Amino acid sequence: MHRKVIAPSVLAASLLLVIPASAASSVQGAPGIGDPYYPASGNSGYDVSHYDLRLQYQPKTDLLEGTATLLTTARQDLSRFNLDFGLKVSEIRVNGAKAKFATSGDHELEVTPAQPLKKDTPASVVVKYAGKPSEFKIDGWSAWQRTPDGGVAAQEPDSAVWWFPSNDHPLDKATFDISVNVPDGTQAISNGVLQSQSSRLGWTRYNWRSNKPQATYLATLAIGKFDVTTGTTASGLPIVNAYSKDLGDNAGAARASVERTGEVAEWLEGVFGPYPFNALGGYVPNVPSSFALETQTRPFYSPKQFANGANVSVVVHELAHQWYGDSVSVDGWKDIWINEGFARYSQWLWSEKEGEGTAQELADWTYGLRAADDPFWQVKPGDPGPDNQFHGAVYDRGAIALQALRNEIGDEKFFKILKGWPTERAYGNAKVGDFVRYAEKVSNKPLAQLFETWLYTPGKPAFAPPAATSKTARSPKAPAAKPVEPKSWKKIAETNTIHDH
Ligand SMILES: [Zn+2]
Repeated sequence: MHRKVIAPSVLAASLLLVIPASAASSVQGAPGIGDPYYPASGNSGYDVSHYDLRLQYQPKTDLLEGTATLLTTARQDLSRFNLDFGLKVSEIRVNGAKAKFATSGDHELEVTPAQPLKKDTPASVVVKYAGKPSEFKIDGWSAWQRTPDGGVAAQEPDSAVWWFPSNDHPLDKATFDISVNVPDGTQAISNGVLQSQSSRLGWTRYNWRSNKPQATYLATLAIGKFDVTTGTTASGLPIVNAYSKDLGDNAGAARASVERTGEVAEWLEGVFGPYPFNALGGYVPNVPSSFALETQTRPFYSPKQFANGANVSVVVHELAHQWYGDSVSVDGWKDIWINEGFARYSQWLWSEKEGEGTAQELADWTYGLRAADDPFWQVKPGDPGPDNQFHGAVYDRGAIALQALRNEIGDEKFFKILKGWPTERAYGNAKVGDFVRYAEKVSNKPLAQLFETWLYTPGKPAFAPPAATSKTARSPKAPAAKPVEPKSWKKIAETNTIHDH
């Protein structure tokens, strides 16, 4: 959940400037990976398999110093390639030799190695840098949130450029080792497992490892003074949760929600299949924002999510993304329904399980909230456009689309699909069309028209009553003609504030 960072209209104009990757023998990589929503995101010509980030951060000054080592493989002979990064670089070495570099655009770093990269050959890229992330701005805005005791990197679709150089697009996922040195008494929270921590001369170093492919925007860093709780799931995975010591009146509700991470994940495993990563948890830093984000293995929650008391529904949403969004990632940002339609639907399933309203009742209620002439129905969840990437329609209409699918094919096949897809596409990327084809394969039914209606056709579709095959359809007291507000509705609606800036 989330909001986009960069004004898309500005980027749309730069689309024309993108240099297509050609088949020439030794070429310059393009400054974008080819995503029409965000033409400057990612870069062409190479893949990154691993990031090793060795960082030091001083909360008093916001100074971040780092050495990033990227293990890459060129996909073509490259005389030059780009990284996405915003902080000041002092040196770059490629395969050990000093490289020339220059900056361009909002966040492009153009690297010219001493020797061209050879196609299909591994290459190491070492970038040394230092800067204050809060002072780097794109369109006057920084994704890095300063807190009274540190700083936080958690944003979608872009946050990496504020703290490490990368190929910044979900198409190029990699494993991560993130090592952070901070003053004693301060913690550094990141993704995955805390491999070790040690103190020396007034500084403490935290070594985090995320050992499955991870998109760059799902890498996270939070530095500050936290209370940390730990646990273990029934299957033996470590749980690490962290709460700023400075959450004020939201502290209790934050803990009462995020401490249920293990329980929620256990339930989600029953719906989506085995949990895909090496650790679990969540963190709540003392930031002024209101959104939450599915940062891999360790979602970010703004304290405001808990201003009205505990809200387990937001935990359900962000943990559902670990399967739908993190393990199976968008192919391009237009495929955002692959993430958000399912994360929203998981909130409806949790409500159904808790006896607070079935998914059908929530779909009926959501459907009835907006009249046919409401602009809400003009947004296409299957290709919403960059301005509407995180529009409510991607979530709500996107989730009604899944209820329509469930009613069309019945519970048995529907839940087989929900569980099968994260395995079918584990650690990869997918387009909306890939899901449609998968659903057709598993259900053995033609579904193109259903998805065309719900995901790609502007206007309010007809919403048919559930087929007799659906056991958990409407309860007798809530006929389709006159939906009542499900008990879970307000808590689910509260999670919509995550779109706010
Ligand atoms: Zn979401």
